[in-house]
Amino acid sequence: MAAAQIFGQALVGIKANTIEVETTISNGLPQLAIVGLSEKRARSMRERVRSAIEQSGFVLPDRRIVVNLAPADLPKEHSGFDLPVAISILVASGQIDPQDFLSVCAMGELSLSGRVRAAPGFLNAAINCQRQALALLGPYQDDIPMLPGELDYHVVGSLADLRQPLRPFDASMPEIPILEPQPEKVLDQVLGQAMAKRALIIAAAGDHHMLLSGPPGSGKTMLAQRLATLLPALNDAERLEIACIQSMAGKTEGYRNINRPFREIHHSASAAALIGGGSPPRPGEITMAHLGVLFLDELAEFAPNVLNQLRQPLESGSIDLQRAHHRVQYPAGFQLIAATNPCPCGWLGSRKPCTCSVEQVQRYRQRISGPILDRIDLQVSVNSLEPDLMLQSDALQTAQSPEHETAVAIIQKARALQQDRRQHKTRQHPRQQLQKDARRMLLSRAKSFHLSARSIDRIIRVSRTIADLEGETAILSTHLEEALLFRQG
Ligand SMILES: [Zn+2]
Repeated sequence: MAAAQIFGQALVGIKANTIEVETTISNGLPQLAIVGLSEKRARSMRERVRSAIEQSGFVLPDRRIVVNLAPADLPKEHSGFDLPVAISILVASGQIDPQDFLSVCAMGELSLSGRVRAAPGFLNAAINCQRQALALLGPYQDDIPMLPGELDYHVVGSLADLRQPLRPFDASMPEIPILEPQPEKVLDQVLGQAMAKRALIIAAAGDHHMLLSGPPGSGKTMLAQRLATLLPALNDAERLEIACIQSMAGKTEGYRNINRPFREIHHSASAAALIGGGSPPRPGEITMAHLGVLFLDELAEFAPNVLNQLRQPLESGSIDLQRAHHRVQYPAGFQLIAATNPCPCGWLGSRKPCTCSVEQVQRYRQRISGPILDRIDLQVSVNSLEPDLMLQSDALQTAQSPEHETAVAIIQKARALQQDRRQHKTRQHPRQQLQKDARRMLLSRAKSFHLSARSIDRIIRVSRTIADLEGETAILSTHLEEALLFRQG
């Protein structure tokens, strides 16, 4: 009996785990059995592996071949196991040199002709190989040589390449500089809308979720897009995490030049598109927006069951998906910005007449209340723009953007203050930082507007951020007053 073993990578959420791919070949009825996979997946893999081996000038032994993927309890739903399975058969049957594959992890999907294609999560696998000091064998992907740290990377374009001894990928390519691109979307391009711009700055400084309410054409999308460019630049670890998510979705942008994600979701989106799922599981929009901005336009038009899916991720920054035999967790730490019309026709309170009845407006508003609105700290009304103002804003160049640059600078300062408090483990609740006048003012407002405890908490948190933007240690009544402007109703 001949045996061989090589490593593969299973994906649990966005994390790759090393698994063993073991093949034994013995006398008996000729067959190719793959153990540790569902029968459906094993069947299609068998076809690809058989054809790829034969088309690459190798031979599939006419004996009893058993391939075991272990441990059995890790999910093995992606197509990247084709390559390690084929290699372990070739090693076990003595067609390629086992010495080449001793501490090698292989990942790739095989075409029927033997070409090796990238499988989702290849970058995640590469990072795990680095961690475990395993060599990685697979197709060429731009972002792998760019990874920080050492990785023994072997590129294989087709199974036939394995007829030559393995050679490490030549990493002598030039350093690719990290670009600090000029943001294409700056505050200066938005004319007017002072209140909404201020809310964006507060949102970016304190990670507050935000709702924009206004008639069609008031620039809500334009404003929302600028939240992502106001947030601080990503660090290397964050870029890498986003790149791993993109890799799971079958995209490779090269992690070096990744910016904060901005994902705009249409209200017809299904719950699965929003939170992820499928087989093999793919991340949904909330995971694609991780460390960036999730924009829900026309919030009132979303199906309630779809919006409800946002509760867990808004609370925990991640999403759990229940699979048939296991649970998958994806990161989903996004900042939410939603937009809505003030009424079904869209023109309530603007220069065009509104045609909605009072009941229609009420029903419309009710649709956006509840669990999501509860978690939104900043609510701001935007006015419709005069058409000539809109034109000017389109023509504005981005080369000079003093307003944007100033905003980014004060946001950074405010975030540094928060970071400082976290590092010094100030356990003091922002409530205790309210100055005397501010506390008195909050009490009286809470009474006259019947504010809920949660509402009061939100207001205090926003005031804290405003105080940080001003560089103040205590929360003053002016900060509180401004925070109160961003609570509607
Ligand atoms: Zn209306």
